[in-house]
Amino acid sequence: MIITKIETIRVGQFSDLIFVQVHTDTGLIGLGETWYGASTVESAIHDHFGPLLIGRDPAEIERHWQTMFRLSDHAGYGGAELRAISALDVALWDIKGQVLQLPIFEILGGGTRHRIKVYNTLGVFCDITEGYDVWKDPVEVAQSLLDEGITGMKMSPTDFIARETDGQILFKDDLDWVLRPLREIRDKLGMAIEVANDAHAKWNLPTALRIVREMEPLRPMWHEELISPLNEEAHVRLQDATSTPIAAAERLMTRYQHRRFIESPAARITMPDLTWTGGISEVKKIGILASAHQMPIAPHDCVGPVNMFACAHIAMSTPNVMIMEYNRATHRGWYGDFIEPNFVVEDGYLMAPTEPGLGTRLKASVKDRPDATVRMSNESREPWLMSNKRYTYPPPELQDEFINSTPRRKSGSEAVYYD
Ligand SMILES: [Mg+2]
Repeated sequence: MIITKIETIRVGQFSDLIFVQVHTDTGLIGLGETWYGASTVESAIHDHFGPLLIGRDPAEIERHWQTMFRLSDHAGYGGAELRAISALDVALWDIKGQVLQLPIFEILGGGTRHRIKVYNTLGVFCDITEGYDVWKDPVEVAQSLLDEGITGMKMSPTDFIARETDGQILFKDDLDWVLRPLREIRDKLGMAIEVANDAHAKWNLPTALRIVREMEPLRPMWHEELISPLNEEAHVRLQDATSTPIAAAERLMTRYQHRRFIESPAARITMPDLTWTGGISEVKKIGILASAHQMPIAPHDCVGPVNMFACAHIAMSTPNVMIMEYNRATHRGWYGDFIEPNFVVEDGYLMAPTEPGLGTRLKASVKDRPDATVRMSNESREPWLMSNKRYTYPPPELQDEFINSTPRRKSGSEAVYYD
């Protein structure tokens, strides 16, 4: 089997969302996705990684990941390149599952569970509050989740006041005001529902220290990105100041950045975003690394629907996944316009996908939308960084002499990477 075409699909309605479909000569198609800077990711896929994969065997996922990462790392990994790698990695796992006629989690070691607890994020964009006003009706929102068996939620109460001062100074009365919804939930519902605090990295360290101390009596499930995880020593000081676990972080990329927050006392929960940090292949490794430090992982979501399926396979096969982020409004809303089947949440649990591969397909109607941008690559090509033309020394006749200079080289060995 070889990869024949790489296709990207993005839509005007969600300008950050991009799907990738990896086509094979057997007709099997793998689906992946990422979020943010969709047109930049599109370029990374068609200019760099797509032509690298076309003509190659989709089964060699680890080899492809390493080659794509090495290409990206040459200019500093992360950003759109890594999001492109993440989307392609998910699509390759989807193909492997379809070939083997197994859900991906069965290939990742099998099910350690067949459902995972979810918490509902009440974020700040994409109309994800289902018409509830979390400022006015916090208890009503929380109760509606509890009624469905969802016993955890996430709020971002301090984002509003951080904007005003760029997170540089915090006033006590402002903090008291924005914490009113959470206090109301605790007053009326006690600890019936866990509430996580996400601050989207908007604060500096002194204000973050003040927030964790003020929130201590409210017993949040965790604090997430009160400060940006640019410096693990600052995070150590933050974690030392509170008994609440610090979660880090959706903006850490690959095992190499997560390692520093897993091995140090900078955080107590690992929170990778699968579609940003390297895909299924990388989050599986991050989970294993965290398990060696007796640390749970809680995959990040609040992006597109394919991420939920990909994270479900991680959650089913990785014992130290503690909970999965989820948004009830997008699940019941626009996700169904793009994928079929949709994932299943029952009694507060995300259920294991049952179909081979990822367990869902992009609806054919998505490409027909008037706001859709569809782009296809079908030519194999070496990206310039990997072109042999760059390696002009020694001259070809001496390269041949070098290659043939010892019996070991004559016997040859298969290169791990393409270069
Ligand atoms: Mg977050």
